[in-house]
Amino acid sequence: MTSQYRWGMVVDLDRCTGCGACVVACQAENNVAICGKKEISEGRNMHWLRIERFWVGQYPDVRARFLPVLCQHCHDAPCEPVCPVYASYHNPDGLNGQVYNRCVGTRYCGNNCPYAVRVFNFYNHEWPNPLDNQLSPDMTVRTRGVMEKCTFCIQRIRRAKEDAKSENRTIRDGEIQPACAQTCPTDALVFGNMADPRSRVAILSRSPRRFRLLEHLGTHPSICYLKGGGREHV
Ligand code: SF4
Repeated sequence: MTSQYRWGMVVDLDRCTGCGACVVACQAENNVAICGKKEISEGRNMHWLRIERFWVGQYPDVRARFLPVLCQHCHDAPCEPVCPVYASYHNPDGLNGQVYNRCVGTRYCGNNCPYAVRVFNFYNHEWPNPLDNQLSPDMTVRTRGVMEKCTFCIQRIRRAKEDAKSENRTIRDGEIQPACAQTCPTDALVFGNMADPRSRVAILSRSPRRFRLLEHLGTHPSICYLKGGGREHV
């Protein structure tokens, strides 16, 4: 099945200040569980987006560098063929999806993802009142034994598609913003339709500053990173 949309993202590392607003926005939008000290100390933290931090240079000329890492929505996704129940699948828009109620928790997908962006629910997480009031009604709450990860806020994509269909038009460039991109104060994250060569994301992805994470593995990610060019904010 073909689609006129191929969703992708560009992450401009020279704009990222490592503030973490995208991480919090993702957590709130997608009902990602908030873990405590114990879970984190056991490596069972929940996040669909993380900021990796690097130090470059020698003291006293040391600089911090930040790398937001989320599901790369690989076109040749290593997580998909290893799932025995087809919970990890590819949708017509090029997204790597996860069917939660099909997942039986083998964690093969997480082990086979070279970007370590899949997280497993080791617990039935709780949102005691009044925290339950912050749960988004557009998203599920995953239960113990289920693998989850970034969906590019598929609930927003679905809504925009329905709006566009009811108005007999295609989705406009910039009409969909995943929570992370909407929240980023420096405009470091740009989302859009890579299949439209005139979209902002497609134009940025042709920049000579572009690269992809672990490109040599041949996963063909939908996320493109930009680096270098003298616009450093850090
Ligand atoms: S980044 Fe990992 S989880 Fe996402 S599609 Fe690629 S292999 Fe699958």
